[in-house]
Amino acid sequence: MTANKILFIVLDGISDRPCPVLGGKTPLSAAKKPVLDKLAAEGICGIMDTISAGIRPGSDTAHLALLGYDPYKSYTGRGPLECEGSGIHMEPGMIGFRCNYATVSKEGLILDRRAGRIHDTAALSAAIQEGVDLSKFGVEFTFRSGAGHRAALALKGEGLGHCVSSNDPKKEGVAPLTINAVKKEGKHEKTAAVCNEFVRQATPILFNHPINRERMKNGENPANIVLMRGAGEMPHLEPFTEKYGISGSVISAASLITGIGNAVGLPHVDVPGITGSVNSNVPGKIAAAIHELKTKDFVIVNIKGADESGHDGKAEQKRDFIETIDSALEPLLACRDCIIIICGDHSTPCPIKDHSADPVPVIIRGDGVRTDDVVRFDEFSCAKGGLCRITGSALMPIALDLINRSHKYGA
Ligand code: ZN
Ligand code: ZN
Repeated sequence: MTANKILFIVLDGISDRPCPVLGGKTPLSAAKKPVLDKLAAEGICGIMDTISAGIRPGSDTAHLALLGYDPYKSYTGRGPLECEGSGIHMEPGMIGFRCNYATVSKEGLILDRRAGRIHDTAALSAAIQEGVDLSKFGVEFTFRSGAGHRAALALKGEGLGHCVSSNDPKKEGVAPLTINAVKKEGKHEKTAAVCNEFVRQATPILFNHPINRERMKNGENPANIVLMRGAGEMPHLEPFTEKYGISGSVISAASLITGIGNAVGLPHVDVPGITGSVNSNVPGKIAAAIHELKTKDFVIVNIKGADESGHDGKAEQKRDFIETIDSALEPLLACRDCIIIICGDHSTPCPIKDHSADPVPVIIRGDGVRTDDVVRFDEFSCAKGGLCRITGSALMPIALDLINRSHKYGA
């Protein structure tokens, strides 16, 4: 029997460097993970430079590369992907931003960059959508709330560029910055003017909104200014189904990853209780993925928590979360009709609390795979595997070949 489906599990930021608190082991090599080790033993293993050797990827550029889209051609900033993740349909050429609700004083100083970690800002975003008018620029906009204090802004109009700065001063007690074109060209200058006008009009709407009056009465920080960053232009991305001739879905708590999926036409599957953190409902994600594969050829699942522990420098927490992931993956051992890929998108080493260019471990397991001698899923063991060292852009072609869906090159 040849496997005819692909289950692609991305363990975000899973790999690491030797951690002193773990006696020089990485969280992955210190964790007890019988399921991942069994999958490694049954599959072929290797290490992977998601983009290329020595390049330190973001989660966005990494996932684009893993899905086979060249980030150097398609990526100008995180904003448009966040917009897609917030449910805004982005057309090529539209400009997208990640936004935060924040608190500004009457004197115009930023008091709280996250507006008291407000949640449920839908009514505030609706008031902005209703009240702000950018028509004098010939620009339409969509403003949508995301999780917590987050939101997304999309601009549509002629002659807009994406090379603009942020108004986020990145610290409290100072005034928000004026947004400027970072490249001296009319289209970028126009976007900067539109953004400044957006903030100028949105701020009084937020100041006077009943939700914010109520928050102030209760001693909470009002969400009365929008900070924006991550400007990017929506690229043309060939739809996944046209590119590969297979159907697919995306399962992720992170709006960025959902947005990348949506941007290439992969619908998002909702799973209750997923948080993008170490308390996420990982078994729910795996169950949803297995269910989804009944009707789809391809599912990509992002499991985020280990990346968060890496950013926090918490090696023991990261090790423990890997053990949680491992037990959630148990149902995969019985999956026989699909090619299972398990890998990281980048390393997030606890000693540096950020992403690094260290290659990530990979397993490909399923019918027809030439197995190797690797019996453990970690950075050191996988480096000895039969896949050797590959780049992220090779994964989809390898997987498609294993399900006999790749095109022959030549006669
Ligand atoms: Zn990541
Ligand atoms: Zn990260």
